[in-house]
Amino acid sequence: IKRIAVLTSGGDSPGMNAAIRAVVRTGIYYGLEVYGIMRGYQGLLEEDLFKMESRSVANIIQRGGTILKSARCKEFYTPEGRKKGYEVLKKNEIDGLVVIGGDGSFKGALNLSKEYDIPCIGLAGTIDKDIAGTDFTIGFDTAVNTAIEAIDKIRDTADAHDRLFIIEVMGRDAGYIALHSGIATGAENILIPERKTDAEAIITSLQEKERRKKLVNIIVVAEGDEYGGIELYRLIKERLPNLDTRLCTLGHIQRGGSPTGLDRLIASRMGYHAVECLLEGRYNVFVGILNNRMNYVPLEQVAKRKGRIAEEWMKVVETLST
Ligand code: ATP
Repeated sequence: IKRIAVLTSGGDSPGMNAAIRAVVRTGIYYGLEVYGIMRGYQGLLEEDLFKMESRSVANIIQRGGTILKSARCKEFYTPEGRKKGYEVLKKNEIDGLVVIGGDGSFKGALNLSKEYDIPCIGLAGTIDKDIAGTDFTIGFDTAVNTAIEAIDKIRDTADAHDRLFIIEVMGRDAGYIALHSGIATGAENILIPERKTDAEAIITSLQEKERRKKLVNIIVVAEGDEYGGIELYRLIKERLPNLDTRLCTLGHIQRGGSPTGLDRLIASRMGYHAVECLLEGRYNVFVGILNNRMNYVPLEQVAKRKGRIAEEWMKVVETLST
């Protein structure tokens, strides 16, 4: 392997820049040439790539977003699209590809590596933490901290006016951002898709709180929960019209901002190991960290982290919100 390329694909996440930096610097350290591909697979198909130097990634470790920009690319779902992608890689003599993105981006890399002789390494860049085989994904910690900061502020105003706030956070089909930010802000209730939402129980507990004049309440709802923020808001408005209830959807602020120390750290570590994988011939895997050890998961086995969130976590939520 002499020349590798790196791209960011799918939804962006804070820490992607730190990962790009690590890939570029590690590659150069080992005497490789490193190319940056703009706008994910879309840029690959359009041959939008450039040679990166150590200085191309100076002063970016602390920046959110991605200097390579990200995109979604319909064409790459088709064999013809991937053929075009491979031809661009071949023409530019690139013999290894690092893809920073979510599980969709990994599927693209898997399909490409199955059809053509081009080793691909994935780095999990997603705020949702919805990929099995890793305790961390690049951006999750920052998103949680951004949500915490916002919820803390909302609690101030909720407290001033005795209000109930329903706060919807991101996470796609996963409830991790809701769980972590909810626990860290002392939310009275946390609704996540991994657990069946008992709306009646929420109403009953709010009625009970109303009786004992506990009017300030924060309910954190994951966007993937069966009751999105808006449904829960409507239900509470209808059933408990006396409560001063507000809805706040945090939205895309959770995807931006300077990455936390933890996200910079894991992005650097994962980026370093991605290049090592290419050099050692450990191909077509994504680089995860499990129990503080590197965990290389074959792209073939990439799966959504699904199902249960540990009962222990839920017990903590219930105990602390009484
Ligand atoms: P996130 O979930 O954080 O937004 P993601 O990587 O899962 O990130 P997707 O939109 O699912 O985001 O995928 C990004 C891109 O990867 C797609 O636009 C497409 O170009 C490519 N891709 C996804 N799935 C496949 C697939 N099955 N085959 C080929 N390419 C794919």
